Amino acid sequence: MSRAAARATVRPTMAAPFLVAVLTLVAARAMSLDWPVADRVITGTFGEDRGDHFHNGIDIGGGAQDVRPVLPGELVFRWDEASDYSSLPRGLGTFVALRHGQGLVTLYAHLQNGSLGPPRTSYQPADRLGVIGETGDASGPHLHFAVFDEEAGSAVNPLLFLPPLAARQPPVIRRVFALVGERRLPLENGAVLPPGKVRILAEAFVLREDVSFAWPMAPARLSVSLDGREVSRISFDALQVAHGRSVLSGSELSHGQVYESDGALICAEVALSPGDSRLTVSVRNSSGAETARTILISVRQ
Ligand SMILES: [Zn+2]
Repeated sequence: MSRAAARATVRPTMAAPFLVAVLTLVAARAMSLDWPVADRVITGTFGEDRGDHFHNGIDIGGGAQDVRPVLPGELVFRWDEASDYSSLPRGLGTFVALRHGQGLVTLYAHLQNGSLGPPRTSYQPADRLGVIGETGDASGPHLHFAVFDEEAGSAVNPLLFLPPLAARQPPVIRRVFALVGERRLPLENGAVLPPGKVRILAEAFVLREDVSFAWPMAPARLSVSLDGREVSRISFDALQVAHGRSVLSGSELSHGQVYESDGALICAEVALSPGDSRLTVSVRNSSGAETARTILISVRQ
């Protein structure tokens, strides 16, 4: 049997200059940064599917706990939703934004109405900003925490900045598909695919710690290899605006290029040529735990 002669053309991988910039920013602050709450239950990840856009922060549950700054910071803006029903951002509910120098801004949203305490211009990490609530566009009490790099014009995955979480359960890959024309073919060992371009889709997600069932949280990284060679990598490190739309930094993929309408991840587009091949889909969470699935495929007419 002739071994794989499959070739792949693919999406761009992470641009090196951007990665360096993020890592420099992270390294500069990693020592002094702390979590905004004591009980760290992640209920939403950066870059996860929100119907028509990427989630630009992380969600932290854990009940009505105090919220504190992750760094000393100057007040940019604070807003108690109960104070005025006629203006200002409603989706965030009651929120606080702080500036920490070097263009770093943090946002703490969906706080309880009336929990902000007396106004002040600067905050230390020991100060209470407010209490977790569910004001604004929120289903269930949680903190929406976002980190913005004003100099780079991007929202950065907060899990790159915060002290590492304890080891978490590895991600789940529920199903892998090939999109051939309009048809979704389940990919399992022995699957036969026609030569030519196919999209590789996956139902894959990170698990929530606070519930026993799976929940579609975005991974930190997603990659596809063909016969041992990586042909695609999508990193959920940062979002920026390019050509008037929000895209993942590095790959410049928009929401519609990463998610199908049912939430399936669009992992790669590969050009297959006849032969047998090994396709591997790998999904990693922010703790570095990885789940991989390797599928033996046969490419022929
Ligand atoms: Zn959120």
